[in-house]
Amino acid sequence: MASRLMGKTILITGASSGIGRACALEFARTCPDNLKLILTARRIDALEKVADDIARYAEGVQVLPVKLDVSKPQDIQGFVGGLPEEWRSVDVLVNNAGLVKGVAQAPDISPADISTMFDTNVTGLIAMTQAILPIFKAREDGGRGDIINIGSIAGREPYPGGSIYCATKAAVRSFTDALRRELIATRIRVIEIDPGQVETEFSIVRFYGDKEKAKKVYEGCDPLTPEDVAEIVVFAAGRKENVVLADALVFPNHQV
Ligand code: NDP
Repeated sequence: MASRLMGKTILITGASSGIGRACALEFARTCPDNLKLILTARRIDALEKVADDIARYAEGVQVLPVKLDVSKPQDIQGFVGGLPEEWRSVDVLVNNAGLVKGVAQAPDISPADISTMFDTNVTGLIAMTQAILPIFKAREDGGRGDIINIGSIAGREPYPGGSIYCATKAAVRSFTDALRRELIATRIRVIEIDPGQVETEFSIVRFYGDKEKAKKVYEGCDPLTPEDVAEIVVFAAGRKENVVLADALVFPNHQV
């Protein structure tokens, strides 16, 4: 059966590494003949490398890498408004860009780290959603599209030392749930995928670039791979139009 994703335009934020990169590769693997991928992040060189990786096995997939910092809402407006005509008709938005800064008790978290986490994980995700929704709604067939937000188990089960990050992901969860209810009975699906521990650059960012500290996080356990999460994202996007995989929690079994 032909993939339901055939001919679609998929926009992924934070596609330069980890889960976002894996989603790009998985969309391309699932639908290698006729797909457009708009890949955004701050590291344009890493995005171009992802585009090269895709070109190696999915020649029929067009990739548009775009440097974009989601923590700057005005840049998001400019990016969406400036998309070339043939790339404007976005069908699926994967709001994946996100980060955690530090492990510290709440009183010790710096205002700069608090802003970075909220601006990226919450304000950025909301601003991107607001920028893309008019494209979904303006479709000649009456409005259609998928918003897939990457939340976290941290949004459901807050942990000591991660209060701000957990709060950002709880905010993502509330926003996603409310938006889904606002759009009920339309053909716009609002989906949240909440991973548990996944081995990516996430912990390197958390420890301000300290790779040794990051490696220790995964010692003695068997975390998810980014591909494990990407498979679920692509599965959700590929369901029949009236099937909404609204919410998924996925974690490695040591984390139960
Ligand atoms: P990575 O650090 O590997 O990926 C994060 C991505 O977000 C990168 O592509 C990074 O790109 C991008 N990003 C960060 N800040 C910005 C910004 N201001 N503007 C644009 N892009 C940005 O980590 P993961 O793949 O693990 O993280 C992806 C998502 O998954 C995040 O939302 C994270 O919270 C969530 N998650 C991760 C878990 C884990 O254990 N790894 C568990 C649960 C959820 P660049 O630096 O080039 O801008």
